[in-house]
Amino acid sequence: MTLVTIPAREGAGLRLERGQRLRLVDPLGGQSGDLVTFRWGDITEWLSNGRSFDYGGKLYFSTGDVLYSNKSAPMLTIIDDDVGNHDFLYTACSIEMYRIQYGLTGDHPSCLDNLTRALAPHGVEAHRMPTPFNFFMSAKVQPDGRLVISPPRSKAGDAIVLRAEMDLAVGLSACPSLGCNGGSTKPLAFEIFGA
Ligand SMILES: [Zn+2]
Repeated sequence: MTLVTIPAREGAGLRLERGQRLRLVDPLGGQSGDLVTFRWGDITEWLSNGRSFDYGGKLYFSTGDVLYSNKSAPMLTIIDDDVGNHDFLYTACSIEMYRIQYGLTGDHPSCLDNLTRALAPHGVEAHRMPTPFNFFMSAKVQPDGRLVISPPRSKAGDAIVLRAEMDLAVGLSACPSLGCNGGSTKPLAFEIFGA
């Protein structure tokens, strides 16, 4: 498969078969994205940050780490990672977040809207969206418990590669938040490789 661009502030939906690899690319650098997965054909099983923290014994994931479902099955394994800095704590940004945190009164694109649109064919509703794996997003827990977001460390062309451990419905979003992306929103890209 060739490289597919996700335009800035937009999303994409795709199917991954067990054994296939998904390569997520930051073409320009400094851009983060959201990844959510459900078992293909069964939206009662989704990517779980809590289970992944539990079985991994860590908050931050990179090459060799497994991301688990809410039913404790491996969903994805990270098999290559140029960046080594991703967030799995934050929920997808939403219109409410832009209104509550930034005082926005009008409309604003959001990862929650993008993911909901991408996964709507599977019957996933916004209020059931799990916490995404926020690839390339830099958010670190401080010793006093505060969370500090800084610009993504990804440089132009950097990528992360994940292997599907079951058939998956995947939602992706190029995050429209200026605050998480160094002050500008940029495209992302992906490609799927065979098993
Ligand atoms: Zn976002």
